Amino acid sequence: MNYDAIVIGAGNGGLVAALTLQKKGKKVLLLESHNTVGGVATSFVRGRFEFEASLHELCGFGNSENTGEIFELFEKLDILKKLKLKEINETFHVMTIDTNEEYTMPVGIENFINKMEEYVPNSKESMQNFFELCQENDEALKYLNEAKGQIDSEVLKSKYPRFMVFASYSLEEVLNAIKMPKKAREIISTYWTYLGSPANEISFVHYASMIYSYIKLHPVIPTKKSHEISCALYEEFLKLGGEGKLLTTVQKIIVENNEVKGVVTTDDKTYYAKIIISNASPNLVYGKLISKEDVPLKARQLTNARTLGARGICVYLGLNKSPEELGLKNYSYFIYHTLDSKKEFERMKKLKNDNMVGVVINNAIPNASPKGTTILYLTGLIFSDTFSNIVTKDNYFDLKDAIADNFIEVFEKTTKIKIKDAIEEIEVATPLTFARYTNHPDGVIYGYQARKSDNLLPRLMNQNNEDYIKGLYFAGGFASRLSGYSSSYKSGEMAALKALAKKEVNDEI
Ligand SMILES: Cc1cc2nc3c(=O)[nH]c(=O)nc-3n(C[C@H](O)[C@H](O)[C@H](O)COP(=O)(O)OP(=O)(O)OC[C@H]3O[C@@H](n4cnc5c(N)ncnc54)[C@H](O)[C@@H]3O)c2cc1C
Repeated sequence: MNYDAIVIGAGNGGLVAALTLQKKGKKVLLLESHNTVGGVATSFVRGRFEFEASLHELCGFGNSENTGEIFELFEKLDILKKLKLKEINETFHVMTIDTNEEYTMPVGIENFINKMEEYVPNSKESMQNFFELCQENDEALKYLNEAKGQIDSEVLKSKYPRFMVFASYSLEEVLNAIKMPKKAREIISTYWTYLGSPANEISFVHYASMIYSYIKLHPVIPTKKSHEISCALYEEFLKLGGEGKLLTTVQKIIVENNEVKGVVTTDDKTYYAKIIISNASPNLVYGKLISKEDVPLKARQLTNARTLGARGICVYLGLNKSPEELGLKNYSYFIYHTLDSKKEFERMKKLKNDNMVGVVINNAIPNASPKGTTILYLTGLIFSDTFSNIVTKDNYFDLKDAIADNFIEVFEKTTKIKIKDAIEEIEVATPLTFARYTNHPDGVIYGYQARKSDNLLPRLMNQNNEDYIKGLYFAGGFASRLSGYSSSYKSGEMAALKALAKKEVNDEI
């Protein structure tokens, strides 16, 4: 069978890529290993609880008066009317184990600055500076996203002069340069685990774009879990005539003379297309799906040079008491030993590291679980391959139990809230679970780690240099917009538009 484009994987990136191409009138085939779409943007049921598999909060959305890039994307894709999203009324709430600190930061720029001034007197001026830089950053990134890979550095220099100065610095370097007091620097860096790199390694551009979007536009969450968005994207794709095949795994990408020709699935069917967009990682694509002799040396070198990002651990709890009965007042509970991200990053290379993010979904969506119950997720990250190095067939369940016990104990001790006796359902996802579910190497949930010179901006600027095989593009957490819900949705659009903009491919289809 011949198609204009084949998309491998129906995670966030794959779904948006497929729908974008379909909307442009192309004949698209979307292939997904699982029996449902969304990748980790899905949900699962245990007893009377339906658990969100991954999403804590979505950034970049906003509302009809104050639209973010994801609102605009979903509007373009015609799925807004199908979605019901709820705003979350706090940016974050963080507690520390060793230093016994606690801060709750509100949404809205003014509120955020004022609250920080309460916690850290004399931080106001630097906070105002910070948000001005965030705004310029936002505008410059919008330009980069819309440039479809054709970036004019003269435009960047003249329109976004400060961006050109701060763009190559880390979060830590910029916060120091604007003389933000130490405690304010630490508090504002709380979200570092969402991007999977400490403040000295994550670029200011990347961090600023995320936190600005959360604070300015408010974080949101779909009322029917992230699968609500995944299903809306897929339904629209099918409605426009797109062809989707679930329970279908791609085992080979056919490449001839450095051009993609099609794919072979595990049921030995061959489908042909001149555009292939992969939601699967470059590790899988260059390491397994393409024959060794057809993989360009540079593709192999770049994939090997990158560092795999955070591996995921998640303890999903269905509690038989309401948040009020339990005393769970906040939506999020970021729990770290200290607010020093460099120290915590090192600590999180070990399996038993205690740091976690707890989310009480009912505090945004009261009916997310049956009346009188609560859903709480405790998510942890590991910045190394320590889990895969020690896990065996024999110790797997013991390891899971130990991880869950430790998370629950540390959560109770830090928050002084008893949850253990209220547990009705519990499920534990480890790096092995995520590796099996997503097909990503080592259970990585954040793509490649963004660090120093291999950060968001260089990856965006270099995206065309990474097109090693004609017709092959990447979407999702391993692509140039990096990981996260909003980024993976946008990366799907970027991959589709880039493929369409390549004249030599497009003219022939
Ligand atoms: C526990 C957890 C919490 C998170 N919290 C947040 C959050 O609060 N906010 C946020 O922004 N981000 C969060 N993230 C990150 C976010 O979920 C991911 O960055 C994003 O969903 C990745 O999307 P993706 O497009 O890369 O697809 P993935 O979800 O990685 O899906 C890839 C898809 O490709 C399919 N596939 C792979 N290989 C093949 C093949 N050979 N053939 C066919 N199909 C294939 C897989 O089956 C899968 O469906 C979280 C992630 C996790 C795991």
